[in-house]
This record gives sequence, C-alpha cells and structure tokens, in this order.
Amino acid sequence: MIIAIDGPAGAGKSTVARRVASELGIEYLDTGAMYRAVTFGVLSREIDPSDAESVIGVCRQLVLEISVDRVVVDGVDATSAIRGPEVTSAVSAVAATPEVRQFLVELQRAWILERGAGVVEGRDITTVVLPDADLKLFVTASPRVRAERRVAESGGDVDAVEAAIAERDRRDETRAASPLSISSEAVVIDTSEMSIDDVVADILERVQG
Ligand code: C5P
Repeated sequence: MIIAIDGPAGAGKSTVARRVASELGIEYLDTGAMYRAVTFGVLSREIDPSDAESVIGVCRQLVLEISVDRVVVDGVDATSAIRGPEVTSAVSAVAATPEVRQFLVELQRAWILERGAGVVEGRDITTVVLPDADLKLFVTASPRVRAERRVAESGGDVDAVEAAIAERDRRDETRAASPLSISSEAVVIDTSEMSIDDVVADILERVQG
C-alpha cells in the first residue's frame, strides 16, 4: 500500500501521515524535512537561498541522513534547527530550484522502491513523485485554522503566523517547478472542522474499506 499526501503548510499532514503509517504498520516519509535539510545546509554555508547555482552546488555535496525522528546534515544534528524560523522562511526559495527537486525526488522514489509500501507526504507527491500511488490525498484547512494550530503548537501571534503561512503557500503554488496543486485524482480532505482522530479514521476507512 502506497499512500501519497499533499497539502499546504500547517494542514496537519505530518501528524496524520505519521499516525496512518503507524496504524498500517508501514513507514512514513516527510519530504518537507528533506527540503528543510538542504536549506539548513545552504544557510550553514552562508549561501543566498535564491542563488540557484550555488544552491545546486551545495545540494550535491551535502551528506543527508533523514529518518523519522532525526535529521543529520553533514554530521550535524539539525532535527530542531530545520523547524526554526530561518529555515522555514528560506525553504520555499530552495525548493523552487528544479535541480534540487530532481535530486530529492530521486531519493524519494528510491525510498518507496526499497520498501514497496509507505506513506509519503509533501507538496508534489500525488502529482510528480508517486502519481500511481494506491491512495492520493490532498489534506488542507483554512489559513486561519492552520495558523491557530501552529500557534497552539509553538506559540506566536496568530495574525503574523497566518501571514507567514499565506506567503509560503503563495510561493509554493506559484513556482514554475512542480507547484503545489490538487491532482484531479486526489481526494480532498478539508480538516478545518475535523480532529486529527477524525482525519486518521477517514483515511483508514478509505484504505481498508
Ligand atoms: O511540509 P513542510 O512545511 O515541512 O515543507 C517545507 C517546504 O518544503 C514547503 O513550504 C515547500 O516549499 C517545500 N516542499 C516542496 N515539496 C515537497 C515537500 C516540501 O516543495 N514535496
């Protein structure tokens, strides 16, 4: 069983993907963590994230170790740093570089090929990475709800967080390379008025019938 999940920032994809994978006894891949890890490497080397040529060079040199609970970049534990504000505001620029996407998409496809099953979550999984997945989902929620969830999780001002989320959505939706879009084959789940448990139950029902 291969499940592909896309959706905008803060829609609860990671939590849902992790829970569904655990219920099904299969592994979970957070592809956002991969783009964040490359961004961490770019910022660590003091490279401008919008300087595509330098970003591509760095991407090829990086040694990435990405597991469910830990992200290590060039031997440095970046698990917390990849969730921090510096990486979060630079990641969309790095993810807009086609060569970076090509490099990471290959790793993502190799991950699923090796296992033959899994839950993979990101922005272009249903459209580009695994268009033949058994189940394709687009998990979303209103910008306000997404901002409120982020604030409940890690604090901050809800208006400012909503503005930052809207800006990241705009960049992810308007980039030329594999923009965030809803596959015509994806089931859209709007989680604005659903609990995590509801969403997980909904997905498991689609899988198990
Ligand atoms: O899911 P997360 O918020 O951690 O993703 C961080 C960023 O990585 C996104 O805003 C997007 O720019 C990029 N990304 C992507 N394609 C994916 C996963 C993430 O472009 N498959």
